[in-house]
Amino acid sequence: MKTCLNCDEPLTGPFCHVCGQKASTRQINWKTFLEDLPRSLFNLEHGFWYTLKELTLRTRSALDGYVKGKRVLFFKPIQYAILGITVYTLLQAFNPLDPPAIEGLREENELYGTGYAVGKLIKDNLKFFWLLGIFFYALPAKLLFRKYNFTEHMVVCAYVLGHTALLACLSLPFYSVPIMFNPFIYLFMGVMYFRLFRDSVNPLGTFGAVIGHLLMCVFIYFALPIAYYYVFN
Ligand SMILES: [Zn+2]
Repeated sequence: MKTCLNCDEPLTGPFCHVCGQKASTRQINWKTFLEDLPRSLFNLEHGFWYTLKELTLRTRSALDGYVKGKRVLFFKPIQYAILGITVYTLLQAFNPLDPPAIEGLREENELYGTGYAVGKLIKDNLKFFWLLGIFFYALPAKLLFRKYNFTEHMVVCAYVLGHTALLACLSLPFYSVPIMFNPFIYLFMGVMYFRLFRDSVNPLGTFGAVIGHLLMCVFIYFALPIAYYYVFN
């Protein structure tokens, strides 16, 4: 009997039922490499474009469906968050609008006034801080939207952070600020949570919960680095 070349399990179909590897594993050479290239590129893009499209057009059915198990076509949630945040951070870092916008922010924003060191700490670790949001933003979400368990909220949050970062890239030509200071991020976040948890009987209640969630997220995010700074310095 043929066995899986990856895990030695006897094969019963076109895919290994234990590890999922294809039963027909061909030798890697130029011919097979070039033959596989379009498919691997297309599949990667397919998952990404599909996720981007579904989250934009059908936020609720996409996210709710994913949580309930309709997952195979989607880009993985943490990967989506990392990708979106990386794209935003790179575009923002190389944006010629960047320096003046930061200067303006430093004068207006109290966070920068609290001490240059706190501002610098956030600025240097921005991407990392924002990714931690997958955990920290799920806390108020769990409190206000009881529909999912905590880890399901983390998955939703990963998609929301990735998606809002990608959408907010569109604001960069006009308005270039680090990700956590971009108001469009919070606007898109609110819209996505509203669409996902919209209660048709009580839309005003959902709206209130969305606003509460945003306020708690902003509080957590601006209190966190300050607390970190005072504990470790
Ligand atoms: Zn296997």
